[in-house]
Amino acid sequence: MYNLVIFGPPGAGKGTQSEKIIAEFNLAHISTGDMFRMHISNDTEIGKKVKQILADGLLVPDSITIEMLEEEVTKNPDVKGFIFDGFPRTVNQAEALDTFLEGKGEKINLVLQLDVNQDVIKERIAERQKISGRADDDAEKLVKRIDEYFSKTIHVLPFYENQGKVIKVNGIGKIEDIYSDISSAIKESM
Ligand code: ADP
Repeated sequence: MYNLVIFGPPGAGKGTQSEKIIAEFNLAHISTGDMFRMHISNDTEIGKKVKQILADGLLVPDSITIEMLEEEVTKNPDVKGFIFDGFPRTVNQAEALDTFLEGKGEKINLVLQLDVNQDVIKERIAERQKISGRADDDAEKLVKRIDEYFSKTIHVLPFYENQGKVIKVNGIGKIEDIYSDISSAIKESM
């Protein structure tokens, strides 16, 4: 298996670039944000638990997130590999993922860090909200999401840097140009 983590702050372009990666490399996409939104729109048990948390721009507790993620991986035993998008978002999640993959004789091969600055994030999300209507894309909730990113999620980076797995890609510019760097980085790590 080839397993990739796509990493970056809200609005970095993780979802957009993941779609291109899937198309070229035929990996299975797991976006924990998409999964939570699906649970909410289907009003499942998980959906009921996380609805307010997402609306507030806060992180869902690790226990719920990790269990949901592991179940999704287990459901797809025959894929070439996974893109983890929006996961891990805490060091605890990263450790759980390593342990879980190890148990299957697998590992994370590469962590792609999409490098963008805060001005760009805010602009992009303001644009996206006009289309997506996502409640957590409004300016006040976005501040919370960025806070969560800098207080909890950013520490995932040194965790993987210590394993020598991080490649940083410039996330500002044309979607195609950014993707071209990503595609090269993946090929080199295969
Ligand atoms: P973005 O990358 O634009 O912030 P996502 O779609 O990845 O958006 O996530 C939306 C929301 O889902 C997050 O703000 C958080 O509430 C929840 N979420 C997604 N992934 C995780 C995770 N790994 N751990 C905890 N909460 C998560």
